[in-house]
Amino acid sequence: MGPISIQDSTVAVSGSADSFPVRRIFCIGRNYAAHTREMGGDETRDAPFYFSKAADTVVANGSIVNYPPRTEDLHHEIELVVAVGAHAANISVASASDIIFGYAVGIDLTRRDLQKASKEAGRPWDTAKNFDQSAPTSEIVTVESIGHPAAGRIWLAVNERVMQDGDLADMIWSVPEALAEISTYCALAPGDLVFTGTPAGVGSLVSGDKMTGGIDGVGEIEITIE
Ligand code: MN
Repeated sequence: MGPISIQDSTVAVSGSADSFPVRRIFCIGRNYAAHTREMGGDETRDAPFYFSKAADTVVANGSIVNYPPRTEDLHHEIELVVAVGAHAANISVASASDIIFGYAVGIDLTRRDLQKASKEAGRPWDTAKNFDQSAPTSEIVTVESIGHPAAGRIWLAVNERVMQDGDLADMIWSVPEALAEISTYCALAPGDLVFTGTPAGVGSLVSGDKMTGGIDGVGEIEITIE
């Protein structure tokens, strides 16, 4: 493992000189039925749950990410990312979209072996999810320019071989539903990012792999593992 540079915890905004300063990163678990099944869960519509990553886990599109320590099973999870632009506590589903500044394409990098061990021991997921460079995020496109994508292809390829290929319409909990639920636990605020879950097809990465992925109408991302 080489030295890891300190990330500046901001995400670029497409078509703008501005950048988006990241406050908190929330990640929704098991939000596509086919992925829930592949992780051994059932298809009941339990309330959405989330875990967190530190703000400085964000990595810019086009970056080279170090293969992380303490794992032999690093996994990719392509996800729609919501960028929050307003304060909201206990917000309704009907008004949740109003707090969204924009959207991006993210990869929720996961040390799957550590996650499995954590689940089995009933321990937190921090070592599996919240590690250096674990949240690659593309440029944010604003709601002003694309509206609110509720359907569209979401995909990820490793070395040009498509591994994940789903549709935003297959999310179990919609973006407004997920935001409303999180806001009942803690206040959302400008700078928050919400990773909204991954479709089926997650899998292992090795050093030298190049991931390319995208979401129709939102953007694309390319990240290489070193
Ligand atoms: Mn995920």
